[in-house]
Amino acid sequence: MSRWHIRPRPLPRESITSWLIRIAEAKGTKHHSLMKELVPGLEFWTRDSDLVAPPELIEALAVKTGVPLERARCTALSAYEGVLAECISGANQSFMVVPLGVRHRIRKAHGQAFCPQCLAEETAYLPLTWRLRLFPTCTRHGTILMDACLDCGAPYQPHRGGMRLCDRCALDLTTLEARTADPNVLTLQAHNELVLDGCAVAWPYLNGTHPIAFFAMELALFRAIVSRGWGSRVRDALQPSIGTLEFEYRAKTPSIRAMTTISAHNAMRGVERLLRGWPFGLVGLCGEARAWASWIVPEETGVQTPFALRDALDTYLRPGSSNAR
Ligand SMILES: [Zn+2]
Ligand SMILES: [Zn+2]
Repeated sequence: MSRWHIRPRPLPRESITSWLIRIAEAKGTKHHSLMKELVPGLEFWTRDSDLVAPPELIEALAVKTGVPLERARCTALSAYEGVLAECISGANQSFMVVPLGVRHRIRKAHGQAFCPQCLAEETAYLPLTWRLRLFPTCTRHGTILMDACLDCGAPYQPHRGGMRLCDRCALDLTTLEARTADPNVLTLQAHNELVLDGCAVAWPYLNGTHPIAFFAMELALFRAIVSRGWGSRVRDALQPSIGTLEFEYRAKTPSIRAMTTISAHNAMRGVERLLRGWPFGLVGLCGEARAWASWIVPEETGVQTPFALRDALDTYLRPGSSNAR
């Protein structure tokens, strides 16, 4: 297998889908011919390939582009295994990755977010963070990511309409104006991006926490805030400091997976507030509102609560615990 003459390299945190779209564009090749050249017979566009990128494709890409194999591997979401979660795969998909709802070559769900300003830049590309639930903003432009065409409401399908156009109505997505993000959410996300890149957790009073535990805490708090059960008590506790949080979904069943990016951003405002001054941001607000541990982390079978969170809850937020108010 020989190297290509034209061979775009992956950009920072770029997803494999994005890389392949750019390669096809640069070579003036159709997606299926490109795939035929790389791994004949491989189904790529009919599945969520950021999640299940096969090793033989990554190897072929590394050879054809001359990019080191280790770097090529970082274009798949599995590169975040051991950082974002223990395991990231199609079979064991967690709430961390927002699903695309792929059917044939069409995407039914809104799991690929985008930043209009990033797409307007000279080289448009999709970073892997645009697939992740806990990363609803663009930290370069200080905005909330979008997850649908504003004109027709279609999911973003860059493999069909190109990176900059809506595939259904051909709206130029770079003309859209994204909403300004909350500065506190941007601060938390900028920190989280560094952790994804391999830096240690450096959140005040939680420095050095293992990344898996830190992200698991964020997800646990996120779930507590949006929960249809006791979530209203947690949201009441947050109300005086950050106002009323509202959530919208793009499916009939309200699930974290089907939440809009604007709603995920709202939930992250709550997460950031509860993480502030750990553990007293959480303990103070929830203690005051008498929101107890079991409401923040319901005792579900099979769900493990990270120690740092369990410890704070057990110490301060169990009725009758010595420190409970
Ligand atoms: Zn941007
Ligand atoms: Zn459209």
